[in-house]
This record gives sequence, structure tokens and C-alpha cells, in this order.
Amino acid sequence: MKLTILGCNAASPAYGRHPTAQILEIDGELFLIDCGEGTQMRMQDFNIKSARINNVFISHMHGDHYFGLIGWLNSQSLFGRTRKLHIYCPEKLKAIVEIQLDYKLSYEIVYTFLQEAEETKIYDGEKITVSSFAVKHSIPTWGFKFLKKNRKRVLIPEKIRALEIPKYYYSKLCDGINYTFADGREINYEEVTAPGKPNLTYVYSADTIFDEALAKIAANANCLYHEATYLDAQLDKATARFHSTARQAATIAKLANTKLLIIGHYSSKYINADAHLEEAKCIFANVKCAVEGESYCID
Ligand SMILES: [Zn+2]
Ligand SMILES: [Zn+2]
Repeated sequence: MKLTILGCNAASPAYGRHPTAQILEIDGELFLIDCGEGTQMRMQDFNIKSARINNVFISHMHGDHYFGLIGWLNSQSLFGRTRKLHIYCPEKLKAIVEIQLDYKLSYEIVYTFLQEAEETKIYDGEKITVSSFAVKHSIPTWGFKFLKKNRKRVLIPEKIRALEIPKYYYSKLCDGINYTFADGREINYEEVTAPGKPNLTYVYSADTIFDEALAKIAANANCLYHEATYLDAQLDKATARFHSTARQAATIAKLANTKLLIIGHYSSKYINADAHLEEAKCIFANVKCAVEGESYCID
């Protein structure tokens, strides 16, 4: 999994930073998470092959999370896209898109509306699943959890060679199927294979007030992106506006025991995120501040 930040500012652009958008790459497939103003320009800046995006996730109906969508959808049509595009979003978004794109696009958009408060599977691929979950913000808002399943076991070469199991059967052993020789002798797949890599999880908090329930959803995640709009000195403002501080984001990561924490969605009042990093590091060591154009390996 690789996460590329296209926009990490809060409500409006500031100091060269853009509103929220990010690309999660899993096995060559690109997932677009939120689509703030300027997203398609940032895709060009960072050489993102946007035709490879088939699934778009919009967390909520604040403009800094979707104002870039119309332009990008239109460009996809101008480029002659024919593949369906799936958008997972609050129900209200559909009408807004349709009133602005009041003509036929070269491709079909398939909407899945986010409704359930509980963790709900909204995308179920062969190797990847995505769930949405409601977070606490000033309007209905959902976070997303991406799970890459790595179920396949791996061969133990010396054991395979010693037993002279035919090559064509290797992938079946990795799938957990035993091998039987012509004389009836059975080889248990566990004897000749080892467990594969564990699953990978990426959790995106969207905009949220500090809420310990998020720590349960993000438990043991490989990476959590948690908004940190403010520093703790502005805790009152953060709470009143249903946002979090860098300290609070780090507290959730600590409670959840995540491997990596990335913070972002900085308020326009901050010239840079140096103080955010310092504040978060006091609580949780493995924290990075989102930087646009940077990619983060999730493993
Ligand atoms: Zn926002
Ligand atoms: Zn918001």
C-alpha cells in the first residue's frame, strides 16, 4: 500500500497547501479519498495516472472534501473514459454532481450512499475490502478503512524440493490445499508452506472531533490518518468546530496501537506543521506530518 497526499490543508488553501485529497495505491489500483478543490491539478503535479482510479470515496459534504470532484469528473469524460466510476459518498452529493454536469458523460457513475453509523463494508474486492464508519463532526461524516488481504501462504523451498512435489501444485499448497502422491501419501500444506504476510490496514479518520471510538476501529492498523486541524492551545476552538488537535490525534493512535500515524488537515492559521509534529511526538513516536506530494509506504 502506498499513500500519496494531494491536499492536506483544512477549509481553504493556504501557504501552498490544498484542501483534502489523497490517493491510496494497492496492487496498482488507485483509490481516491476525498477530492478537495484543485485535486486534478495536484494529480498532474505528482504524476498520478488518474485513469487508473475506479473508486472514489467522499467523506462528507463540506466543500474542502469534494469541490474538486466536478472538474475531475468532467476531465475524465473529455479524456474519453469508458470504464464505470464508483463513488461512495453521502446521498446529497449525487444531485450536486448532476446539476453541474447537466450533460452526458462518456462513462457511467455508480453511486453507493453512505448511511450506516456502524462499520459497514462498502467495497468487497478479491484482495481489498473497504468499510465506512460514521465519525463525529458538525455534519454527517464517514471515515474509511482499507484492508488488503494477504491470505496466501508462502512455500518453504527446501521442504518442497526434498519432497519433490510437482511445480504445478505450488500455488494450490499456498492456497491451503494438501497434496497427495500417487501412492496415497498425503502432504499437509502446513508442512511445506509458512503463513503469508499479515493483512494491511489503512484507516482514514476524515474530519472528526476527538472520539475514543475511533481507536477501536483503527486498532492495530498499519497506518492511521487522523486530522489535526489545531494545536492543543486551540483545544476550545477544535472542540467547538468538531475538529481535533495534534495531541488528540496522537492519543487515538496510541490507544489504537497503530504502527504509523499521519496527521493533516491543518488550519490555515499555521504556516507549517512543525509544532503539530512536536506536539504529537510527545504522545506517539511514529508520527509523520502530511506533506503534499509525499508518498508513504504502508507496511
Ligand atoms: Zn475538512
Ligand atoms: Zn468538515
